[in-house]
Amino acid sequence: MPARRHAGRWISVDFLNSATTAPRDMIDPFGRAVTYLRVSVTDRCDLRCVYCMSEHMTFLPKKDVLTLEELDRLCSAFVAKGVRKLRLTGGEPLVRKNIMSLVRSLSRHLKTNDLDELTLTTNGNHLEEFAGELFDCGVKRINVSLDTLNEAKFRAITRWGDISKVFGGLEAAKRAGLAVKINAVALKGVNEDEIEDIVRWAHGQGFDMTLIETMPLGDIEGDRTDQYLPLSQVRARLAGKLTLEDIPLKTGGPARYVLIKETGGRLGFITPMTHNFCESCNRVRLTCTGTLYMCLGQTDAADLRAPLRASESNDLLYAAIDAAIGRKPEGHDFVIDRDTLRPAVARHMSVTGG
Ligand code: SAM
Ligand code: SF4
Repeated sequence: MPARRHAGRWISVDFLNSATTAPRDMIDPFGRAVTYLRVSVTDRCDLRCVYCMSEHMTFLPKKDVLTLEELDRLCSAFVAKGVRKLRLTGGEPLVRKNIMSLVRSLSRHLKTNDLDELTLTTNGNHLEEFAGELFDCGVKRINVSLDTLNEAKFRAITRWGDISKVFGGLEAAKRAGLAVKINAVALKGVNEDEIEDIVRWAHGQGFDMTLIETMPLGDIEGDRTDQYLPLSQVRARLAGKLTLEDIPLKTGGPARYVLIKETGGRLGFITPMTHNFCESCNRVRLTCTGTLYMCLGQTDAADLRAPLRASESNDLLYAAIDAAIGRKPEGHDFVIDRDTLRPAVARHMSVTGG
C-alpha cells in the first residue's frame, strides 16, 4: 500500500487523496493530541440499567440519527485527522441494525495502519451472535459491562436483563479469541458486597476488570447520591482481602491499574468523582446524531451533521472539527447536587456513550 508522510505519520495515499484539503492533526488548546474517538452509534438499548436510563426513555427520532454510511464518513474524517483508536458504544451498539457493516467498513483503516484499534463497549446481550464476526473484522478486545454475577440482582439493575445471555456472550467472545475487559459500576448497597467475588471471577476467566464510579449524567428516576460509592472505599476494602500492587499500565484511558497478587489479574479504577484525570485526556465523543462532545462532563458541543450533510467534500467538516477541538475544555467538575439532586450534566450516558 503506497504511503505518504503526513503530520508526522504515515498515511496511505488512497486515504489522503480522499480528502480534498489535507487535514491537520487535532491538538487542543492545552497541547493534548486528540487520538481517540468514542462513537455512540445509537442511543437505544435493550436494557434499562437503573444508573444509566430511566425506565421510560424517549429515544431520538430515527430521522435525526446518522446513517451508517454517514457514521463511516465521520469516523474516517477523524482517522484522517489523527485518531488512532475508535470505540463504538451507545446505547447498545449491537442493537443498531446492520452494525456489522459499519464495523467491517471501518476495519479498512486497520488494514492500512491508519488506525491502531477498533473496539466496542457492549452489554454482552448479543455477543453470542457477533463475537466471531467482530474478531474477523480485526477487533481484538472489547469491554463488556457487568455489575453483578447474581441473576436476580442483574435483573434488578438492568430492569429486565437475563444474565445467562451475557455469560453465553462472554463464552462466545473467548471462543472467538477476543480479549475481554469487564466494566462494573460500583453501586452503594447493590453490588458493594460482591466486588471481591466479581474481581476473582473475572480474573479466573482471564478477563481484565475495571471499576467505575457512578457519574451524575441525566435524570434516572432516583437519587444518585444513594448510588454513589467512592472507589477509594472499595479499594480500601479490597486491600483488606487481597494484595493490590500499583502498576504503571497505560491504556490511553483514565483508569489507574493495580495487579492483584492472588489472582494475577489486573484491576482498573476509574474515579471521575474523586480523582480528576483530565490532564492526560486524549478523547472526544460523537453522538449518533453527529454532535461532538469535547468533554464528558461539560455541556459544550459542536454539530458535525450540518457540515457533513452540506457538502460531499470534507472541507467544511474538517473546519468544524478544528473549531471544536480548539474549544476542548481543560477538564470537568462533576458534582452530584445534594440540594436539588439534579444531575451535573443533563444528558444521559447513553447519548455520549460513556
Ligand atoms: N450498552 C453498552 C454497555 O452497557 O456497555 C455501552 C454503553 S454504556 C452507556 C457504557 C458504560 O457506561 C457502561 O459500562 C455503563 O455501566 C456505564 N455507565 C452508564 N451510565 C453511567 C453512569 N451514570 N455513571 C457511570 N457509568 C455509567
Ligand atoms: Fe444500556 Fe449500557 Fe445504559 Fe445499561 S449501561 S442501559 S446496557 S446503554
